[in-house]
Order: sequence, then C-alpha cells, then structure tokens
Amino acid sequence: MPIYEYKCTSCGGVSSFFVQGFREPEDLCCQACGGKDLKRVISRVNYHQSQSDRLSSYDPRTRKSGDFYRDSRNIGLHAEHMLQKAGVKPTDEFKSKIENLRSDPSRVIKDSDK
Ligand SMILES: [Zn+2]
Repeated sequence: MPIYEYKCTSCGGVSSFFVQGFREPEDLCCQACGGKDLKRVISRVNYHQSQSDRLSSYDPRTRKSGDFYRDSRNIGLHAEHMLQKAGVKPTDEFKSKIENLRSDPSRVIKDSDK
C-alpha cells in the first residue's frame, strides 16, 4: 500500500497516510492540528527528478544516504556539479562517459579490469 504525504495548508505540517487504490482519501485531517485542508505532496521517493533537477538540487555539503550512492543516476553528479560551479561546460566525452556509467555501472569494473 503506498504511503502518501499531505501538507496541511493551515499549519504546514506534513502527515503521512496509507492510501488504498488510486482514489484520494476524503476524510484526511492534519496529524498536527486537525486541519482538513490538506494538499498532497509529491514525496522525494516517488518524484521522478529530471537529471538537471538532480544536478541543481545536488549539494556536496549534505550527507548522502546509502540510497544516494545506490542510485546510479547520481554517478558523476559531483563531477558535474564541480564543473558547473567552475563555469566549465562538460565535454561530450565527459557526458557520454557519465551516461555510460549511469546506464551500466558495472562497466566501470569491467573497464578497469583491462
Ligand atoms: Zn495542520
């Protein structure tokens, strides 16, 4: 059963609810203040980020969870971030390398075996 998060429009608190099926539950109320006006928030887990969103929200100072490193789409994000910060446009070679790594992370291991 999926868990959805709802944000309360009166207190801003976020409540999580199990939701059955695709129908929005009707009688939800805020777990903090009891308010009835809740707006669904797209949780970080379900939200499908575009690669450029991913890059712009990347912050090297934050601690990364294990999930961050398990997600192959985050490979090379730090390098991309550093280039962007330095105002350097990534070369096509760089981009295709990263693209290869993201689509097939095991290739790194194969390549370094040579
Ligand atoms: Zn509330």
